Amino acid sequence: MRRVEAANGYSALDPCVHCGFCLPACPTYLVTGDEGDSPRGRIVLMRALERGEMSPHDPGLLEHLEGCLGCRGCEPVCPSGVGYGRGLEAAREQIYHARGLSSLARLVLGVFRYGKIWRPLFALARTLRSTGLPSLLAGKGRLGFGMGMLASSSEMTEQAEKRKDGGQRDSGSAGQPGSTHESLPGALAVPLSPGPAGAPTVILFRGCVMNALFSHVHEATKRTLRVNGYRVIEAKGQACCGALHEHAGDVDGARALAAANVAALQGKADFIVVNSAGCGALLKDYGRLLESSAAAMVAARVRDVSELLAERGPRPGAPIRLDVAYDAPCHLQHAQRVHQAPLAMLEAVPGLRLRVLPGSDRCCGSAGIYSVLRPAMARAVLDSKIASVAEARPRPDLIVSGNPGCLMQIGAGLRAARLPIGVAHPVELLDLSYDEAGYYDGVNG
Ligand code: SF4
Ligand code: SF4
Repeated sequence: MRRVEAANGYSALDPCVHCGFCLPACPTYLVTGDEGDSPRGRIVLMRALERGEMSPHDPGLLEHLEGCLGCRGCEPVCPSGVGYGRGLEAAREQIYHARGLSSLARLVLGVFRYGKIWRPLFALARTLRSTGLPSLLAGKGRLGFGMGMLASSSEMTEQAEKRKDGGQRDSGSAGQPGSTHESLPGALAVPLSPGPAGAPTVILFRGCVMNALFSHVHEATKRTLRVNGYRVIEAKGQACCGALHEHAGDVDGARALAAANVAALQGKADFIVVNSAGCGALLKDYGRLLESSAAAMVAARVRDVSELLAERGPRPGAPIRLDVAYDAPCHLQHAQRVHQAPLAMLEAVPGLRLRVLPGSDRCCGSAGIYSVLRPAMARAVLDSKIASVAEARPRPDLIVSGNPGCLMQIGAGLRAARLPIGVAHPVELLDLSYDEAGYYDGVNG
């Protein structure tokens, strides 16, 4: 069974004609200039692995295949339609069955597999975040970068407050002219009202990192959907989506989590809304992963929050005067092929000076647990993203992106570079705009 699945995955590489058009789109190739770190080079290695010409224990093969971000930035530029991501999954699954995971990967994925482990760990992280220490300790070293990631998971309003309180005092540039963060109002605390009767029903997919560190984005998602005529309902029994496991080759682990989610989500609503691009990409692929009609039916109902909101316009809010640069998550643009909906969502906020960040089509280096397993390459890839922010004129007040890993990675990079620029999920801005417009006034459940 596994052999058949891997063969099917590898067949997605068949159209490759080795033209090399994908090389300039590959962030790791741009860092090293090594053909083995390019899509074309990795495809040659994957085919050698498939044919048994290279061993899954070969150190050179492992170095190059494990060094792939899995960002799929090579797919849209390929004129032959190579399914690189599918081939990579097949190769990683074969390697996983031959040699298992590294001890660090096993530890990290083990945490995400069991809610009884990750929930208390993330509760500790939230407590630490609430002290404000991560914002103060954010910096370039490994600890400082980790603190920057945690600080960047806060609400955009809290990030602005921390900056005002001196969290980036040593930058010498906090509060510089042009930054309008100081004018952001405090956090919203509006309870959810059930929504109009007869409206399309939506289940919020909660996930693990999103639920633990970005619950403010979940609340914003629920409020903005309701303003746009959806009825949001809760579904119990949800688990981590399994994307981290699948990307590492632990397909059985991913399937166990996917099966729990299908049981929790099936047949309960018109749509399942996801506000994390990485989770959404795998949820939309549950039919293939589980090969069941129930999974396929769940997958067909999955939408990114921007897709549901863009379908309704969305309703315009009140003006917010900020300079905002949008950075598209790889798993939204390359895996889900969602391009315009996040921009349509942001265009419903009058007053925003909105642009797409140059190099938005390239990965930030977060890539699931990649930044934990291969921090040097992850930081090297991030550096070019931060350089394009630093070079942008006028300099943006805020970078928006619809994925938690990207927000934390880019946010930590901005802090390490001492750039007084916040990060936020796009739906946070729409939510703030709706609050300013008074759409939540008098809403009390
Ligand atoms: S993956 Fe596509 S773009 Fe890259 S070498 Fe193969 S055919 Fe050319
Ligand atoms: S998935 Fe990303 S890192 Fe991997 S080969 Fe393609 S572009 Fe390069």
